[in-house]
Amino acid sequence: MDQIYQFELSVIVPVYNEEESVQKLYEEIVEAVSGIGSYEIIFVDDGSTDKSLSFLQDIQQHDSRVRVIRFRGNFGQTAALSAGIEHSRGRILVPLDADGQNDPGDIPKLIEELEKGYDIVSGWRKDRQDTFLTRKLPSIIANKLISKITGVKLHDFGCTLKAYRAESVKEINLYGEMHRFIPVLANWSGEKVMEVEVNHRPRTTGKTKYGLNRTFKVVLDLITIKFLMSFSTKPIYVFGGLGVLSFLGAFLSGLVVFYQKFISAQHLSMNRNPLLFLAALLITTAIQFILMGLLAEILVRTYHESQGRKIYVIDKIYES
Ligand code: UDP
Ligand code: MG
Repeated sequence: MDQIYQFELSVIVPVYNEEESVQKLYEEIVEAVSGIGSYEIIFVDDGSTDKSLSFLQDIQQHDSRVRVIRFRGNFGQTAALSAGIEHSRGRILVPLDADGQNDPGDIPKLIEELEKGYDIVSGWRKDRQDTFLTRKLPSIIANKLISKITGVKLHDFGCTLKAYRAESVKEINLYGEMHRFIPVLANWSGEKVMEVEVNHRPRTTGKTKYGLNRTFKVVLDLITIKFLMSFSTKPIYVFGGLGVLSFLGAFLSGLVVFYQKFISAQHLSMNRNPLLFLAALLITTAIQFILMGLLAEILVRTYHESQGRKIYVIDKIYES
């Protein structure tokens, strides 16, 4: 079943307060993709408060291949990418940052690799131009961790510059900082993921929108991903398992209390024995865990069956 695509390529650019770089980036993109049949460029303005939007509107008015999606507020880079992907009409999708750190000159290389039969080709910023302590080091650790836990072997999940076959990402719903986990989610459904080294340039205009706290969000997202991966359809296995363990602990504590009162020579009084309280506590915890598991089961059903809700609100789309 081959779908008909309007364009060969959609370049998707999330923009949040990048007034100084969008024009130059636009020119670089046009130059880089000139050899590729038909393409569109989608800028997603994530509620910029500087002049980004008016610059983008200007670009759009002079070039019918450009579309600008303007968000009602700042919903974050993941939401911006998600909107871009959803509104794209190309066969191949290539997202990249608006600040000029990703090099549009790498686009043909990514596509060439994709055409060798992969569904996703991820950029690897091997020589990353960011500060070491707050950006590169946390990223190295996070990437190792993600790789280990998800089993998807990439060096640089966080690189925005990637190439996707449209059909391999359109169905994926994104939350939080999860755009970096697209290769993981895709890999679970059998997609083939590859990586190539890409150029990375220092930020020369504007400033970064992130700090160290993103690392914590990424780690929490990773826990969610792992949970979803292993138990998204059966959360009761996790919570129920913990509940059963708690019951077991309660039973053992109770047994010791019983032994100390009736069998051992000391005949310890039951109501002064802390193990009795431990047993009571563990029984309560066990019941809580199991109830939580059942609640999660209901939530999971809602999650899988509800109509796809969006994680962003669009203000307007400017197009020819
Ligand atoms: N961005 C966005 N919404 C946000 C934060 C960032 O659309 O809330 C865009 C930003 O304009 C840039 C890309 O996401 O094009 C990456 O952001 P940034 O360069 O600050 O991240 P870094 O390169 O420092 O990881
Ligand atoms: Mg950047």
